[in-house]
Amino acid sequence: MKEEDIRPQAIFDEYLQLAKEDAITYFATAERESSNCPACGALGEFSFDKNGFTYEVCNNCLTLYVNPRPAVSAFLKYYTESPSSKFWATTFYKETAEARRDRLWKPKASAIHEIVLRYFKDSEIPTIVDIGGGYGIFAEEMRKLIPVSPVVIEPGPSLAEICRQKGLPVIEKFLEELAKSDLPQGAKVFSSFELFEHLHDPERFLRCLNGLMSGGDVFVFTTLSGMGIDIQVLWENSKSVMPPHHLNFFNPESIKVLLSRTGFDVLEIETPGKLDLDILLNSRLSIKDRFWRNFLETASDAERANWQQFISSSGRSSHMRVVCQKPLN
Ligand SMILES: [Zn+2]
Repeated sequence: MKEEDIRPQAIFDEYLQLAKEDAITYFATAERESSNCPACGALGEFSFDKNGFTYEVCNNCLTLYVNPRPAVSAFLKYYTESPSSKFWATTFYKETAEARRDRLWKPKASAIHEIVLRYFKDSEIPTIVDIGGGYGIFAEEMRKLIPVSPVVIEPGPSLAEICRQKGLPVIEKFLEELAKSDLPQGAKVFSSFELFEHLHDPERFLRCLNGLMSGGDVFVFTTLSGMGIDIQVLWENSKSVMPPHHLNFFNPESIKVLLSRTGFDVLEIETPGKLDLDILLNSRLSIKDRFWRNFLETASDAERANWQQFISSSGRSSHMRVVCQKPLN
């Protein structure tokens, strides 16, 4: 898989340009609040400013995060009415939907299916609850694999409607507004993909989720690792470091700290990413490090593929997948 397949460069750059303008329009005058590291609570240190947002790195666990953080009301306004949000939901999505289904959602669905087989008995088929289900493509793929219909939690009215048209049960709320009685009974696997890096308050999100889960339920999520190789090398020039969208970059160690503080047992943390070196290759003109520039100029496709394999298997990709569980008691 190549970055171009799921994020065609021209259209992605247009989106980033809109997001950059929106970061000023919606946040320049927003009230901001300071806090410590969202993973471990230690103090952070200034790293860089980007599009009017300040990023800090935790001295203790190396989490990269926006601090101070604009008020949540500014984000709600931004996500409901900004030009870049609209561009993402319409133009960007339309152009890439089928490529993303095949290259992202089908593999994600089969990975979740394997996780279900690992942690649940045959007699106990869990309901998949997809938080921030968007267009419902993951849920559609999931229902081909598991005989219990997935449930989508999607607060956006137009996205929720698209899911309903696909015959998916939808709860049109933010996770933080949900009650346990909104959800089907029985064992559950909650999932969220590429959501965690956007969360205004990850600790609150996890505590709310924990309150909705029963002992033995599983939560699987993917997010960006700030210790991932493309982010480490490109740093403030990384297109993944994109305010106002991406506020939290945990890493395989720091996410454990946050999960154990919020009542979860960690079952698996992996970085199954495939794109780090392709992203670096596409952004090589903004790489300062001589080794990486020369490596990318000279490595063959096969050599890059070998390195990518090693980066993923050693936990150094920026695409991180976490499987955790609410303990039985
Ligand atoms: Zn920390």
